[in-house]
Amino acid sequence: MTDTDVLVIGGGHAGAEAALAAARMGARTAMVTMNAARIGMLSCNPSVGGVAKGTLVREIDALGGVMGEAADFASVQFRMLNRSRGPAVWGPRVQCDGRAYSSFVRRALRSSGVEVVEGEVEQFRWAGDRAVSAVLSAGGAICFRSAVVAAGTFLGAVLFRGRERWSGGRAGDKSSDRLCAHLPAEVSTWNASRRGLHRGCWQDR
Ligand SMILES: Cc1cc2nc3c(=O)[nH]c(=O)nc-3n(C[C@H](O)[C@H](O)[C@H](O)COP(=O)(O)OP(=O)(O)OC[C@H]3O[C@@H](n4cnc5c(N)ncnc54)[C@H](O)[C@@H]3O)c2cc1C
Repeated sequence: MTDTDVLVIGGGHAGAEAALAAARMGARTAMVTMNAARIGMLSCNPSVGGVAKGTLVREIDALGGVMGEAADFASVQFRMLNRSRGPAVWGPRVQCDGRAYSSFVRRALRSSGVEVVEGEVEQFRWAGDRAVSAVLSAGGAICFRSAVVAAGTFLGAVLFRGRERWSGGRAGDKSSDRLCAHLPAEVSTWNASRRGLHRGCWQDR
């Protein structure tokens, strides 16, 4: 592929919603993600909702997003949290089948005409202060009119186990180090609150 209106980098929750929103608006949309089979993967506890995030899920739903629909489709158990307290702190939460959730999101992207490209974006090409294309580590570039970086927990991700630390994403995924180094410092530091939690963390306990 050579060009698109909107290029979304990342196939997690944020990337899927961004790509579907762009496609709904009639834009030619492509998504680049490191592992197409892991689009829409729930990284850890396969649950959606809760007291704070439940509000976000309902807002996404009201805007036409896919998260609530995918969670309904993949539901295993629904629960209203905090029933013993007042209604202000009740929070609906659903436990999902992670595979069903991910396949629902992939189907939604496919049926909306989003083109999925498996690969790693390592840098942008710029025309002045405007990014105009994304360079893939395997070679080639994708030109775009607008891009959304939804690289989430992968951007400069670090894993910790006791005193050890090394570069890597969740469950065997790679960290997105080249893109992190390329992006302006103010963008990369948005990711400073990344999760330091990984299965391996618990081995020492
Ligand atoms: C180990 C772990 C456990 C977690 N547990 C929970 C939990 O129990 N409950 C909870 O609510 N949240 C949990 N989280 C947080 C939750 O996973 C994140 O908030 C959420 O996944 C963020 O979604 P996202 O779409 O922003 O990014 P991510 O899900 O991180 O997805 C990033 C996407 O970007 C792609 N990408 C990155 N860089 C590039 C590149 N250069 N080129 C192409 N593609 C790229 C990746 O392939 C991936 O598809 C956990 C996170 C981690 C790491």
